[in-house]
Amino acid sequence: MADPRGFLKHTHRETPKRRPVDLRLKDWKEVYEDFSHDTLQVQASRCMDCGIPFCHNGCPLGNLIPEWNDLVRTGRWHDAIERLHATNNFPEFTGRLCPAPCEGSCVLGINQDPVTIKQVEVEIIDNAFAEGWVVPLPPTKLTGKTVAVVGSGPAGLAAAQQLTRAGHKVTVFERDDRIGGLLRYGIPEFKMEKRHIDRRLEQMRAEGTEFRAGVNVGVDITAAQLRSEFDAVVLAGGATARRDLPIPGRELDGIHQAMEYLPWANRVQLGDPVVDADGQPPITAKGKKVIIIGGGDTGADCLGTSHRQGAASVHQFEIMPRPPETRADSTPWPTYPLMYRVTSAHEEGGERVYSVNTEQFVGENGRVTGLRGHEVVMKAGKFEKVDGTDFEMDADLVLLAMGFTGPEREGLLTDLGVEFNERGNVARDSAFATSVPGVFVAGDMGRGQSLIVWAIAEGRAAAAAADRYLVGHTALPAPIKPTAAPQR
Ligand SMILES: Cc1cc2nc3c(=O)[nH]c(=O)nc-3n(C[C@H](O)[C@H](O)[C@H](O)COP(=O)(O)OP(=O)(O)OC[C@H]3O[C@@H](n4cnc5c(N)ncnc54)[C@H](O)[C@@H]3O)c2cc1C
Ligand code: SF4
Repeated sequence: MADPRGFLKHTHRETPKRRPVDLRLKDWKEVYEDFSHDTLQVQASRCMDCGIPFCHNGCPLGNLIPEWNDLVRTGRWHDAIERLHATNNFPEFTGRLCPAPCEGSCVLGINQDPVTIKQVEVEIIDNAFAEGWVVPLPPTKLTGKTVAVVGSGPAGLAAAQQLTRAGHKVTVFERDDRIGGLLRYGIPEFKMEKRHIDRRLEQMRAEGTEFRAGVNVGVDITAAQLRSEFDAVVLAGGATARRDLPIPGRELDGIHQAMEYLPWANRVQLGDPVVDADGQPPITAKGKKVIIIGGGDTGADCLGTSHRQGAASVHQFEIMPRPPETRADSTPWPTYPLMYRVTSAHEEGGERVYSVNTEQFVGENGRVTGLRGHEVVMKAGKFEKVDGTDFEMDADLVLLAMGFTGPEREGLLTDLGVEFNERGNVARDSAFATSVPGVFVAGDMGRGQSLIVWAIAEGRAAAAAADRYLVGHTALPAPIKPTAAPQR
């Protein structure tokens, strides 16, 4: 039972401070300062334990938010992690990286600032690791069944942990040299230090999950081998086909996809020998005029990375208009609010330019030197050029952060013979089963480009479906069914 007057006594929402910009640009560590448990307990006491907790609906995992808010308020931290782990395998990832749709649907948010749900979540798991409460939970009985999980992002890891704990022998295949998917090589260290992945993998290995990195399934192991060697397969290969910008000049050197650029910076932080004498990776923003095309999260990650590498200037282009300062009328409570946000990377510098379209890249001697663009306005669902707004801007590094079109079809997926839906993602039924018996799909590969929280939720649900397929019943929870919901 929550403090019935908590939200009246404490009307002020408090979140952790970000470290000073000049200090954090000198390192790659996470940007947030520590948050005291006393302050957190006050913040948790703002939760009203609503009769109908809309935060549950907002969270794809169905996190038991009012329960753990109250457990934190009353200092019952061990019980809090039990309740948090009951619905979320990896709160250390979501607690740092989730855009927190739960907060967008918090009832308190109707007329006050919402409860700091995400901060409560991350403090519960960080405290649990510090106390030694996150221990391996190996199965008590083995089923003798084998499962291959293809892809080691949050969807694959969640499916693997659930299926291992259900007693199956699970092998996770990853074509990159390290486990983690976009958590490892997409998301920069300053948003989530990679030690959080390694710590969780230790637990998973001790539970019995086997990891095989550097194995491209469909090439190093054929689809036929996969089917014959494993009783079930969970596809969790992500949506890795990148959206391009096929305009004149695209072939010039110095124009890169975000996911060609970001992994190098992560490799430097992981200690890989990829740097030159100046300490810079093969693609670097150091000393360069950078233009990022794409105003989303990936673009913001390129922005923060460019500043840490010492860019001369950074512009981030977005074709959509600047969102309103407060929740847009088109996204009323309890939906996820469309509004102007200032991420830590935006706070660090650079200029955001809205309502612009890039028309052409220009260059000299095969290298990009700038681009030409113009302003646009949306009319009847289409972008139209605003006459007289043509401009040219210098650039010696252009980063394309325009999202992903879906999974790569060639190789594994075509060899397996899975069907695709109208969006080009792997089609699945209401139990995450593909058109091929015994093959399931979870995360961005079936959903399209989305969020970590959805990937974990889908990994858990696909694991429940695979478990039922293997042994005829399941005790694993399935938080969601596939939906034709918005991509994010
Ligand atoms: C730069 C960037 C920043 C982001 N930031 C955030 C954020 O802050 N918060 C958030 O919620 N979401 C964020 N996202 C989105 C989020 O990372 C994804 O939605 C999520 O990682 C999807 O998880 P997944 O497990 O489905 O796939 P992924 O994380 O993409 O993992 C798929 C893995 O499968 C591997 N794979 C593919 N095919 C094969 C094969 N044939 N054999 C072996 N391995 C294979 C790939 O190498 C990859 O490692 C971001 C995305 C990007 C690109
Ligand atoms: S909606 Fe907000 S106030 Fe209500 S239970 Fe959830 S977190 Fe607490």
